[in-house]
Amino acid sequence: MVDILIIGGGFAGVWSAAAAARVRAETGSDLSITLIAPGKDLVIRPRLYEADPDRMRVPLDRFLTPIGVRHVPATVSSIDAGNRTVTAIDRGGRPLDFRYRRLVLATGSRLRPAGIPGAEHLHDVDTIERAVALDRHLRGLPEGPGRRTAVVVGAGFTGLEVATELAGRLAALADPADPADRPRVVLVERAGEIGPDLGPGPRPAIAAALDRLGIEVRLGQSIASVAPGAVSFTDGTELAADTVIWTAGVQASPLTAQIPGRRDALGRLQVDGHLHVPEAPGVLAAGDTAAATAEPGHLVLQCCQHAIPLGKYAGHNAAAGLLGLPLATFDPAPYATCVDLGGAGAVLTSGWERTVLSTGDAAKQRKIATNQERIYPPLDDAAEILRAADYRVGIRPPAARI
Ligand SMILES: Cc1cc2nc3c(=O)[nH]c(=O)nc-3n(C[C@H](O)[C@H](O)[C@H](O)COP(=O)(O)OP(=O)(O)OC[C@H]3O[C@@H](n4cnc5c(N)ncnc54)[C@H](O)[C@@H]3O)c2cc1C
Repeated sequence: MVDILIIGGGFAGVWSAAAAARVRAETGSDLSITLIAPGKDLVIRPRLYEADPDRMRVPLDRFLTPIGVRHVPATVSSIDAGNRTVTAIDRGGRPLDFRYRRLVLATGSRLRPAGIPGAEHLHDVDTIERAVALDRHLRGLPEGPGRRTAVVVGAGFTGLEVATELAGRLAALADPADPADRPRVVLVERAGEIGPDLGPGPRPAIAAALDRLGIEVRLGQSIASVAPGAVSFTDGTELAADTVIWTAGVQASPLTAQIPGRRDALGRLQVDGHLHVPEAPGVLAAGDTAAATAEPGHLVLQCCQHAIPLGKYAGHNAAAGLLGLPLATFDPAPYATCVDLGGAGAVLTSGWERTVLSTGDAAKQRKIATNQERIYPPLDDAAEILRAADYRVGIRPPAARI
């Protein structure tokens, strides 16, 4: 029997583990905490649109071992919330069974399949394996008409970051003396405007950045099919393009479907203010699997900014609940967002209306600090990890570096 079983080694999972370990340390209790995740690393998913994505990893053992959390490298295949049991498959294909007192589901989200003919030729940056495959593809493109043409599908947060960064990545690989090698990035959006979920605030800054980078925008359409070296659009036109990247829409981990409860349109489990799934006693959800209220009238978004505090509150409440301590009501820091715009800087906004605070280089410095420093967890130092795991502590100050 495990006291606290956490499924998932992403941002929500690791911070759940640390927050539970923090309560354990503070109370001198002997709660057992186990985290199941297939890989050896925490993947820094927000950086997967960058070049060399294979470096976007942090070893789990340097975070979990110092704080006494056991990592089981396995993939969970089934959850029986009624009997409080979980079955996982280890790397050797052997089944492993667990019984738990509290379960934290933190298995993240996945890109929705494109469901179009030739979808197997699409690229994406949803997982580190897929991002590495794209990076290799870009570096090994053969001569041909679509060699430096890339089509990015979806002009939401991820699509904008992929497209603007790709302009620079393709330029770095191209021969500047050869006009035929000139990069071309086409951004396709089904809605009638770029960044449909970002609202009107940052749109002028984003449009100016796309213009500056020479990115072609096709609004009100999508792609109809893909073949090696070619893509066709829903308006019937075709383009020679060796690289087509799908970014359109994510869905909560399929394990959410195994937990009794209500789900939102993204498949996320509706949780109460303490991040419990009311219909599944003993189960909490955190990160991209949880539809928690961030502020009255606003659910959390599937982003690190929410996954990290969701993890901390869930881990805290899992441990506090077992020890009969008061539970903490989820109360994240005010919402802000920063969209990377590649060589054209970034745009930083505040609040749910996304009021623009800064653009260009100033916003880019903030994005770099967040992506390269603030979202990285402390490593090796148990006291520092447990201190940072307090749900009242925000993400790390910019000066903290691994
Ligand atoms: C390209 C890209 C750019 C992004 N940019 C930003 C950004 O700028 N800002 C921002 O805030 N957010 C950004 N995000 C979103 C952010 O990365 C996610 O919201 C965040 O990673 C969610 O954390 P999580 O812990 O819920 O899930 P994840 O980080 O996805 O972790 C899920 C974990 O669960 C494990 N897992 C899954 N299934 C199983 C299973 N069956 N058994 C065991 N383990 C399992 C996985 O291996 C992984 O360890 C971006 C995402 C992408 C892909």
